[in-house]
Amino acid sequence: MAEEKSFKYVIVGGGVAAGYAAREFSKQGLKPGELAIISREQVPPYERPALSKGYINLESNNKRSIGFSFVLARFLTILFFSWYTDKATLPGFYVCAGSGGEKQFPQWYKENGIELILDTEIVKADLAAKTLVSGTGQVFKYQTLLAATGSSVTRLSDFGVQGADAKNIFYLRELDDADELVTAMDVKKNGKAVVVGGGYIGLELSSALKVNNLEVTMVYPEPWCMPRLFTAGIASFYEGYYANKGINIVKGTVAAGFSTNSNGEVAEVKLKDGRTLKADIVIVGVGARPIISLFKGQVEEEKGGLKTDAFFKTSVPDVYAIGDIATFPMKLYNEMRRVEHVDHARKSAEQAVKAIKAAEEGKSIPEYDYLPYFYSRAFDLSWQFYGDNVGETVMFGDNDPKSPKPKFGSYWIKEGKLIGAFLEGGTPEENKAIAKVARTQPSVESLNVLSKEGLSFATKI
Ligand SMILES: Cc1cc2nc3c(=O)[nH]c(=O)nc-3n(C[C@H](O)[C@H](O)[C@H](O)COP(=O)(O)OP(=O)(O)OC[C@H]3O[C@@H](n4cnc5c(N)ncnc54)[C@H](O)[C@@H]3O)c2cc1C
Repeated sequence: MAEEKSFKYVIVGGGVAAGYAAREFSKQGLKPGELAIISREQVPPYERPALSKGYINLESNNKRSIGFSFVLARFLTILFFSWYTDKATLPGFYVCAGSGGEKQFPQWYKENGIELILDTEIVKADLAAKTLVSGTGQVFKYQTLLAATGSSVTRLSDFGVQGADAKNIFYLRELDDADELVTAMDVKKNGKAVVVGGGYIGLELSSALKVNNLEVTMVYPEPWCMPRLFTAGIASFYEGYYANKGINIVKGTVAAGFSTNSNGEVAEVKLKDGRTLKADIVIVGVGARPIISLFKGQVEEEKGGLKTDAFFKTSVPDVYAIGDIATFPMKLYNEMRRVEHVDHARKSAEQAVKAIKAAEEGKSIPEYDYLPYFYSRAFDLSWQFYGDNVGETVMFGDNDPKSPKPKFGSYWIKEGKLIGAFLEGGTPEENKAIAKVARTQPSVESLNVLSKEGLSFATKI
């Protein structure tokens, strides 16, 4: 029988939140052997957003693939050979690179006495017995558990879309997914790609595919891209920009099925409106779901996640939930929310660890007071958003997709206060300024004046 291992702290999941929690534990003081991270991934925690950006960039792809078989390239990646590229490859984006921190190589975990248990999936959590069991039957005991299992992609097969299991239909969540996609992009060079979904993944991957010389069509049912955040005005800039780059956008319909060639590879996407699109590669980005099945029936849930307090403590003693899976009190809006973004994954991890350590010393720390922050990058574009996107909106700036250097934004105003701000093409100082107004929520006397003042409304505060 497999040996049972015991730790003071166990983090289940080895993504962004786990990596930042490990750093906070080491800052706060950790004895060797006290902390273990158990992850089903084969590599230490990395900055997941890089997967849809630099990691699938043309230059690095070609350099990564030339002369190597896929397996060998993967092997080299794992062995941390990054000499062949100056683009985003591992170990370049191990946490905490994304926030300007030290990169945590496997050696870092060793030096800090942290046991990194990779390639290990936890299949059972018995929170009453404080025990986790892996797929191979290994048993892990803990005193305090941090659940950091993140999200899994929503698959078209979940909706019974016919042919959705064909070869060359990809999803992107983990490094393995990105490696498979990179290989296919190389094999299907100059081919046709269909991107299903017009959210973050859809927009970022369409740009990456285009940059990699594939012919790209995006398909989404909504009237404009990224409807959860973008207004029609914001979206029309990005749709215009993408169209100018040669990306074909098909709106108002969905992928209803796929046909395959004799190799079982996807050949055509059948749309619900009856049209068909030829495809060598399909990428699906239609959302993600928090992975909480391990804890079902044991922990109180809310809004699809594990309900926590302002210190990420769940309803079960000594069990914390951080990152994508936590539904926590968003103090600023006096509401329980779940946030699937990297900034919150980092900050919630730090908050939970600080709270755990403080409690051990009989101390307390301030409540989590999070300002939502989302961002994305594609082509030469880069936007940031802070705050809440509800209420009336006011756009400002140059949002002509043909401009050589577009810079524009939008404010959201609710009950006479500015509560959200979006900016494309901002400098670091300007981005700081929009973060500040979203946090301080200044009163807005007139939408017309705000529209005229534009970005200077934020920068002068
Ligand atoms: C391609 C991509 C691009 C993104 N880009 C952005 C962006 O530009 N901006 C932004 O704000 N956010 C972005 N995000 C979202 C952001 O990456 C997530 O919000 C963040 O990673 C959440 O951190 P987490 O630690 O909660 O989960 P994750 O980072 O997903 O980590 C969860 C980990 O748990 C492991 N795991 C799950 N179940 C088990 C189990 N049973 N046993 C063992 N291990 C398990 C997983 O394998 C994974 O390693 C992006 C996400 C993706 C997929």
